[in-house]
Amino acid sequence: MNVLTTPEVIDTIGALRTRLTGERERRGGAAPRLVLLPTMGALHAGHLALARRARELGDIVVVSIFVNPLQFGAGEDLASYPRTLDADVAALATVGVDIVFAPTGRVMYPHGKSSTKVTAGPVGAILEGAARPGHFDGMLTVVAKLINIVDPDVVVFGQKDAQQVFLVETMLEDLDFRPVIEVVPIVREDGGLALSSRNRNLDEAQRAAAKALSAGLVAAASVAGRGVAAAEQAARETIDAQPLVKLDYLVVVDPLTFLPVAADHHGPARMLVAALVGSTRLIDNAAIDLN
Ligand code: AMP
Repeated sequence: MNVLTTPEVIDTIGALRTRLTGERERRGGAAPRLVLLPTMGALHAGHLALARRARELGDIVVVSIFVNPLQFGAGEDLASYPRTLDADVAALATVGVDIVFAPTGRVMYPHGKSSTKVTAGPVGAILEGAARPGHFDGMLTVVAKLINIVDPDVVVFGQKDAQQVFLVETMLEDLDFRPVIEVVPIVREDGGLALSSRNRNLDEAQRAAAKALSAGLVAAASVAGRGVAAAEQAARETIDAQPLVKLDYLVVVDPLTFLPVAADHHGPARMLVAALVGSTRLIDNAAIDLN
């Protein structure tokens, strides 16, 4: 693999703004195209696919690495969430990322928790939002802050977090943010398991069992022509066959509203699953076509 220049790691808002202003000036009148990829670090090949897409789209690529306390609930894995900054920077060097913005919590929230928050609205309260109250308000708040800090032309997100994508798209539109969003398809292991920073918490047996999530989505897609109930049943049977996988929700949503579809829905839809494998919460999704 080609090792390109190591990204510059910046940890304050002032230093990042100064660096970006300098970059704009250095390039003379022609405004560079700036791409922001927000992450929580512990980077894997899925994140790197997003970084590669960002590199294709932009003159300057900023990857933020920030484990955002605002989007973790009490009792969630904020303290134990993996933090691997040196390895992350080395991985991003192989893609040619220009800048890693890795602020501390104090830099992002100098007064403790931010008092002004973005509210996700009704779709923020269902599915992942029902399991993790406040999660999407916290996520949108930090994404809004990062956009205001970096002022990118493009923000890059992964389809892996489908509800997050829907809510970020909605926020960008509702609040007239300038950037466009680029959504990158889900990157999977051989065998189908969607890559996730949380997969490292799985032991061998759990990892094998976790493949049932993507297998369930494949089973659903293959019978989707017979309708919602058939698709849900096929997915449920595949997943329930794995005793180590405890299904939280399995639902088919309308991509336009992100609300569950009616039983007689026709046309494009998205199936979403969430499950606990041991104490690790995993999510996955796939487009299905309900003819
Ligand atoms: P995270 O660090 O988990 O917040 O993820 C940062 C970004 O990477 C989000 O936009 C995720 O949707 C995306 N992402 C994480 N895992 C994958 C994957 N397996 N495939 C595609 N995108 C992913």
